[in-house]
Amino acid sequence: MARRYAIAPYITSLISNIIVQPPPHDGHYPLNLLCPYRFPHGKRKALVMSYDDGSEHDRRLVDIFNRYGIRASFHLNSGRLGLPHHISPSELPSLYQGYEISCHSVNHPDLTQLPEEAIRREILDDRHALEDWSGRPVRGLAYPFGAYDDRILALLPELGIDYARTVVCTETFQVSQNFLRWQTTCHHNRAMDLAERFLQDDGAEPALLYIWGHSYELDGFMSGDLSKNWDTMEALCRYLHGHETVHYTTTIELVDYLNAIRRLDWSATTVTNTASMAVWLHWQGNTVELQPGASMRL
Ligand SMILES: [Zn+2]
Repeated sequence: MARRYAIAPYITSLISNIIVQPPPHDGHYPLNLLCPYRFPHGKRKALVMSYDDGSEHDRRLVDIFNRYGIRASFHLNSGRLGLPHHISPSELPSLYQGYEISCHSVNHPDLTQLPEEAIRREILDDRHALEDWSGRPVRGLAYPFGAYDDRILALLPELGIDYARTVVCTETFQVSQNFLRWQTTCHHNRAMDLAERFLQDDGAEPALLYIWGHSYELDGFMSGDLSKNWDTMEALCRYLHGHETVHYTTTIELVDYLNAIRRLDWSATTVTNTASMAVWLHWQGNTVELQPGASMRL
């Protein structure tokens, strides 16, 4: 069942790396190195795992994540849940407890090949079903096959989508500037190398390790010694878990936090947190927590 779409992510990952322009300066600092932020609780590093398609292997993967305190986003096709080799709708509230549930469209089509109304239905109907089954808001998207175009980008805000993940692998720890073209660090088959670089990174800037994949790939669809895939994932999570400098989070939680950073109001002499959550800045060698509404003198 899973074999028929196992190849697609590798093809789409060949899509050329898209050059993302920072948002226009609108009186607030754009989310770039000019804004000396930290992740929640003052951490300089953050980790997100991101898994697509809702295959039955998510159960085993969630079990590993649970044991190591790793957080993740799961991008689901409501039209496939309940089919053979997929998780069932009734599992959503318990299986993904503590994780993000996000859209991946109803039927996993290439959205770029659909008329506009069909794109709306694929995304909105997926949101409605996933929210009904899980009892939670669903505000994220992973593009099926990683495919998108300008037409889709223009539709997403009115469909209530706050970020949309591509399959572009940058092999860097930079945070995407454009949340509707969210780029990843790497597919999980490259994760161990990047994890080592991530933990060894001693730079001054925020560093995000963002790993994506499909849980079914761990059960015999990856290259190399297939019997070792689950062991490799376990070793990766053991290696990455429990680090004092790392914030473990989901994509939507990170997006909400970064939007709060973007909404900081900078004057010539102060910076004010206009969001409803605390944010952390790194200013003149100190990490400073700014409560909602609070200001700091520069
Ligand atoms: Zn997919």
